[in-house]
Amino acid sequence: MADADRMEKLVSLCKRRGFVFQSSEIYGGLGSVWDYGPLGVELKKNLKDRWWRAMVHSRDDIEGLDAGILMHPRVWEASGHVAGFTDPLVDCKQCKQRFRGDDPRIKGTPGQPDARCPVCGTRGTLTAPRMFNLMFKTFMGPVEEDAALVYMRPETAQGIYVNYLNVQQASRQKIPFGIAQIGKAFRNEITPGNFIFRTREFEQMEMQFFVRPGTDEEWFEFWRHERMQWHLALGIRAERMRFHAHGADELAHYAKAAYDIEYEFPFGWNEFEGIHNRTDFDLSRHQQFSGKKLEYFDQERNERYLPYVVETSVGADRTALALLCDAYHEEEVAGETRVVLRFLPSLAPIKAAVLPLVNRDGMPEVAKRIHDDLRGRFTVFYDDGGSIGRRYRRQDEAGTPFAITVDGQTTQDGTVTVRHRDTLAQDRIDAGAIAGYLTERVAPD
Ligand code: ATP
Repeated sequence: MADADRMEKLVSLCKRRGFVFQSSEIYGGLGSVWDYGPLGVELKKNLKDRWWRAMVHSRDDIEGLDAGILMHPRVWEASGHVAGFTDPLVDCKQCKQRFRGDDPRIKGTPGQPDARCPVCGTRGTLTAPRMFNLMFKTFMGPVEEDAALVYMRPETAQGIYVNYLNVQQASRQKIPFGIAQIGKAFRNEITPGNFIFRTREFEQMEMQFFVRPGTDEEWFEFWRHERMQWHLALGIRAERMRFHAHGADELAHYAKAAYDIEYEFPFGWNEFEGIHNRTDFDLSRHQQFSGKKLEYFDQERNERYLPYVVETSVGADRTALALLCDAYHEEEVAGETRVVLRFLPSLAPIKAAVLPLVNRDGMPEVAKRIHDDLRGRFTVFYDDGGSIGRRYRRQDEAGTPFAITVDGQTTQDGTVTVRHRDTLAQDRIDAGAIAGYLTERVAPD
């Protein structure tokens, strides 16, 4: 299947089955904001819960935080975002399209007669790049004046830096330790696109690990491997992921070293997680701008220092997209094409469907009882509409790993069949054993 085709099919499946809808669609849509539907919200929640378990609950040295989206505007001056979080913007005077100045499709130098517009192909119509700040601005309070200007955070990290001593003191952590946070971030991207890959509102899962200067390179290596292992454990194919080390010309203003973890999306290799050695850049800037000492006192060594920070920053939406792309399969079964999303059972939005084989002979009543019993412990779905084959295929498309069917035998001996999404194998088990059977197979791993 051609890659563009695969992406188109995935986007249409996401809408049809309720994973992702375009924002404000009845008004013609809002550029690059997407809404997660009933299945999408479960998938993303499973992903975020899994990250939280791995980063916070299963470690003694990482604490959680949920900071506000709006912060004191000086935060963004200190972080360098007011001055430096910019992209070069280029306009075509002919077709009115906008591009990032570093768009690889632009041939020649924008602003010069030789430059050619990548959309309409006209020469000499591209403006010279103008720097454009990606932060969304709004006003706090009733008066829209500069003094009331606040920004929608473009990353969650700064909420962690300004709280690091609060968290450290409240939790009595000792360096090395980390702070993790999941939350929305906003960037007024010039060229958003590729579905939920690059959007203007998105969710980040970020962890900042505070270490003694001099131990940062070791921790950087630790975290970069740890994060790759986490993605592999999501079931994402190893051959579709790779590291990309930032060269000196790519490094962000705060970073001493950086690796991206890239996934081979249908539209090419692209970053979905960044691991950065941010040194003491952010803390020293906040110390300077706030006038507050942010040093840590290391009792064991009897010394004060500003910690270095190793950051792991992953997009929940981009990871959800990588999962969807990786899980999407089309295959022939008994002469028919079926579409199946092969999520890990622990990540699947619905764990099991409960289906009466036919709508008579007491089967719907038994199936409803089973459904009611499972609901609340598992995400389950009751479906009695259409042929059993069609109902199985609907669940395959939603990525539901198990389908429990109540048939004629159930009413005689109390057993049901459990159909496996990937192998199509069927087990016959006692209806009373379903909950245990599911627990074993869908529990978070
Ligand atoms: P890019 O180069 O793709 O713009 P970035 O290097 O600016 O990304 P970071 O600032 O390192 O990204 O952000 C960390 C993570 O946040 C990214 O790996 C990505 O998963 C997510 N992310 C960043 N920008 C967006 C966006 N506009 N839409 C969706 N996710 C995003």
